[in-house]
Parts: sequence; structure tokens; C-alpha cells
Amino acid sequence: MKIICVGRNYADHIEELHNERPDAPVIFMKPDTALLRPGEDFYHPDFSEDIHHEAEIVVKINKMGKNIAEEFAHKYYDEIGIGIDFTARDLQSKLKAKGLPWELAKAFNGSAPVSDFVSKSQFTDLQNLSFSLTVNGQSRQEGNTSMMLYKIDYLISFVSRFFTLKTGDLVFTGTPKGVAPVKIGDTLVAAIEGKEMLTLHVK
Ligand code: MG
Repeated sequence: MKIICVGRNYADHIEELHNERPDAPVIFMKPDTALLRPGEDFYHPDFSEDIHHEAEIVVKINKMGKNIAEEFAHKYYDEIGIGIDFTARDLQSKLKAKGLPWELAKAFNGSAPVSDFVSKSQFTDLQNLSFSLTVNGQSRQEGNTSMMLYKIDYLISFVSRFFTLKTGDLVFTGTPKGVAPVKIGDTLVAAIEGKEMLTLHVK
């Protein structure tokens, strides 16, 4: 399986990092070794002093497809979850300044914790879902999928022109504002529509 991530998909997060608003989705990938399943701990790597949490709605692909039309994209996923796109912001800033790829800052071991997945049918509108992240009980990120610059179906259509999507692939759909560093000892809790979905300890 592969993990496909979307960057700069919420205007408030683009502003907090002083990035430019993209004219097409910003896409990068993480290997399967980035995945952390519920119950696994995140081990803070020693190559960064500034690992940021980015809480994101995650879509799980349920059948193979390429060149998927946007109007049919909804047929290619039936479950969603919530994940954290951990980012070594100090390393990413150096790479960005040199115009180099972000992989070392984004795709390292354990950089993609995800919750269990739930049926999308339990939500009335996937493009109007609130989600949140707390750290040690304090609110850090509050988002709503209505604020995405590029909607889920468009993202799936766009990505499938470049990469064949396969069953089990995950799509991280971008983070709202509030990204901040984590430290050893922190406990992160991510929720969708107020329902706690993922608890993660930083070790
Ligand atoms: Mg992200």
C-alpha cells in the first residue's frame, strides 16, 4: 500500500506557514514504513528538534482505479479515519529553501499514525466534517472539511491521473491551522465530529 498526502489544502494553514496558495494540489507520498496503527507509540526521531503534528482526515481506497473521473471518485472509497502527518519542520524548511524534495522531513518512520476507519455512510456530508486534535488535553487544531481548497473527490481524481490507486491505499487530505511541535511525553488525541478516534503517545 502507499500513503498519498496533500499539502496546503486549507487556507488558514497556508497562511500560518506563509506559503503560497497552490494552483493545483500539492502531492507527496510516504512509504508503508511511515504507518503507525492504533496502539503503537510514536518515537520522536533524533534528527529534528521541531516535529510538528498535522491532523488530517484520511480516506481509504477500496478498489483499484486510474484516471478516475471526479463524478465517480466516491465509488473508490467507503471508509474514512483521522491521521497525523508528522513533519520535521526544521528539516522541511531547509529542504524547501534549497528547492529539494521533502521526503526526509515527511516520510520518516512512524510519520503517519492513523486511526481505525469507519464507514463514510455514518456521516451525512464528508465535506462538512469537523475534526480536532488535542495535546495533553489542550485544543491545538480545529478544522472542518468544508474549508478544503481541493475536495476529496477532486483529489482522488487528480491523484489517479498520476498514480494507480489500489485497495488499501490511504489519502491524507491536508491540515488546518494550529500545527505545532510535539515533545516526548505528549499525548495526542484526534477526533472526528467530537468522537475520539486516535490516541497517540510520543516517546
Ligand atoms: Mg499535511
